[in-house]
Amino acid sequence: MTKIIHDEEQLDFPDVMIMPKPSTIESRADAQIVLPIKFKWTGRVIEGNPAIASNMDCTGTFKMAKELQKHQMFCALSKHYEAAEVIQFLKTNLDEFGTNDYVFVSTGLREHDFDNLKQIMKTGLCKNIRLDAPNGYISGFVQHLRRIRHAFPDAVIMAGNVVTPEKTAEFIKNGADVAVVGIGGGSQCSTRAMTGIGRPQFSTILDTVDAAHAEEGLLCSDGGITTPADYAKAIAAGADFVMMGGYFAGCSEAGGQLVRKLIETPEMDLTTGNPVYQVKKYRLFYGMSSEYAQKKHYKGMQKYRASEGVVSLVPYTGPVARKLQELEGGLRSAMTYTDSRTIAQFRNNTEFYKVRHQLNRNSKAIERE
Ligand code: 5GP
Repeated sequence: MTKIIHDEEQLDFPDVMIMPKPSTIESRADAQIVLPIKFKWTGRVIEGNPAIASNMDCTGTFKMAKELQKHQMFCALSKHYEAAEVIQFLKTNLDEFGTNDYVFVSTGLREHDFDNLKQIMKTGLCKNIRLDAPNGYISGFVQHLRRIRHAFPDAVIMAGNVVTPEKTAEFIKNGADVAVVGIGGGSQCSTRAMTGIGRPQFSTILDTVDAAHAEEGLLCSDGGITTPADYAKAIAAGADFVMMGGYFAGCSEAGGQLVRKLIETPEMDLTTGNPVYQVKKYRLFYGMSSEYAQKKHYKGMQKYRASEGVVSLVPYTGPVARKLQELEGGLRSAMTYTDSRTIAQFRNNTEFYKVRHQLNRNSKAIERE
């Protein structure tokens, strides 16, 4: 038996770096990080910054949505909110900000999800839908996408997840404005360890972006962002949206339970000779396919299913505003280094180096939190 092995090298964000270029941009303030985002099926245009919080329970919260939209960034709400709660949020948010353009209402493949979605869309308060299934390859997915497009012709639809160009194009053709790519690269994901399925995220973007654009659709990269640099690389690779969970999970606006731990430090109290302790704060962060999430939402794991997500404590990082400033600052700076005044120029201008090491081994840049 001959097995096909696709042996083209598959890269992740840490495997590449962006090449600097002679630049005429004097100040980072000249880098324009908000751009008009045009959606195929309705022709709607939203001025936005391409970041979107993941529709996980811990990051797709109402508080997160409120903060992100102040930066013209997006938030996909968790699909586990009841329709009434979402409607209440959308009403107050509309009063406060005058728009719900930066909010996506999430839905899955179950009938209950569709009923919830219908109730929310009926109010006309929100016109953005995130259709999410961990495996966008199952045949029912495209059928469901068509059903949603048919039911809500005025909506922007973001659908996924897949990792190949054929499916990306199929989603756009069948009603999605944005195809979401990424399987196995999420911080709370154990799909790769449990099943062997997945694809490194940087190569996934490179290989799918043309398929989305050829159908006049957009591409959202989902998973694997750990630093502002990864965010800049995802955009430079061509992603029109970049979805993030872990990057936001430790923030005040995140939904995971706050946990305090007493940690022994390496220091000693010189008068008593006792070790010095310090209180450290964490937030619980669980994958949406973890046993924890399955128990919470579906009364436990089915016997035929294995958990494909993990639960962990992530360091508490304070208000999300700081993390957003870092994303914006990193992107502006990367654009300045590559002579890109706009995000469109940044996508076109950028060349990458393939690298073995990203950081000086003594660097604390990534462990800083
Ligand atoms: P992160 O930004 O944390 O690296 O990745 C976030 C993405 O991971 C989510 O948007 C979603 O696509 C994916 N994800 C969330 N929970 C789970 C899970 O339990 N299992 C798997 N396989 N993926 C997950």
